Amino acid sequence: MPKMRAVQISKPGGSFELVEREVPTPGPRQVRIRVEACGMCHSDVFVKAGQFPGLTLPRIPGHEIAGRIDAVGDAVTSWKPGHRVGVGWHGGHCFECNACRVGDFLNCAKGQITGISFDGGYAEYVVVPSEAVARIPEELDAANAGPLLCAGITTFNALRNSGARPGDTVAVQGIGGLGHLGIQYASRMGFRTVAISSGADKEKLARELGAHEYVDTAKGSAAEGLQKLGGAHVVLATAPHADAIASTVDGLRPRGKVVLVAAPFEPIQVSAFSLLSGKCVAGWPSGTSIDSEEALAFSALTGVRARIEIFKLEQAEQAFTKMMANQVRFRAVLVP
Ligand SMILES: [Zn+2]
Ligand SMILES: [Zn+2]
Repeated sequence: MPKMRAVQISKPGGSFELVEREVPTPGPRQVRIRVEACGMCHSDVFVKAGQFPGLTLPRIPGHEIAGRIDAVGDAVTSWKPGHRVGVGWHGGHCFECNACRVGDFLNCAKGQITGISFDGGYAEYVVVPSEAVARIPEELDAANAGPLLCAGITTFNALRNSGARPGDTVAVQGIGGLGHLGIQYASRMGFRTVAISSGADKEKLARELGAHEYVDTAKGSAAEGLQKLGGAHVVLATAPHADAIASTVDGLRPRGKVVLVAAPFEPIQVSAFSLLSGKCVAGWPSGTSIDSEEALAFSALTGVRARIEIFKLEQAEQAFTKMMANQVRFRAVLVP
């Protein structure tokens, strides 16, 4: 059997080990992708910690995969070897549960997660269910497409489903891996885009990314800053700090919405009185493969690009440490 290089976690809390594995063979309704790049995501910490429902070790992490199909299994009709494709967090669905029957594949009762339910993209090859695959447009190179398949799709999809309309005021809380894409998408979708972060030094970057306004939480609360601008229709919360997220609720207009794409471990405390004008706090769960495909196409069309730092596959541990220390600007990408 041919072999490939891969990086795996073999025990809870263990480090990323470079190993040799057999190249996997695609089964029915699966495709094999020759990986050209795989983004690193904060959620890969679940694999490193060995803690996620359904996760078994050893596991190859990675759910921001970009590459080219090189083999297809039986019953795959729409994908052919040579197609440029990517795979994100949503790694397939059953087509039979009640959620699938109403077309809500993201909430499939047996939904699979790439790099958690099955081996992911920190490898030279990966096998995935064919329904999890998204086409990558020619304008995007693989290293750039990778992060768009999780950080990109999540912010793109949360924004376009938020109910905000062109001209509405949309604030993006945090300018990190998710936020730097959220700002680009929000401004290109036609929203009056406000970036929220701490420190005067971030304003230049925020405006470069497309923000029309900047709220500096080192100078005053997010709520005050947003109210001075007339209040936000939507706040996209991208930095996982419960207090920072809660502090944006009073910056909403009546009936405004905070949409969470970041997940702080601590509960978010919100006063009921803040919500009685019809405001709400909601979450958004990534996207399916067609959502990913649309996020990639929109990015190619409007010039949205992830800012990335490239690492070799064998540098996964180093890249992860740097990411967890918040020193990667803005997404780490592994190239095999
Ligand atoms: Zn992710
Ligand atoms: Zn299902």
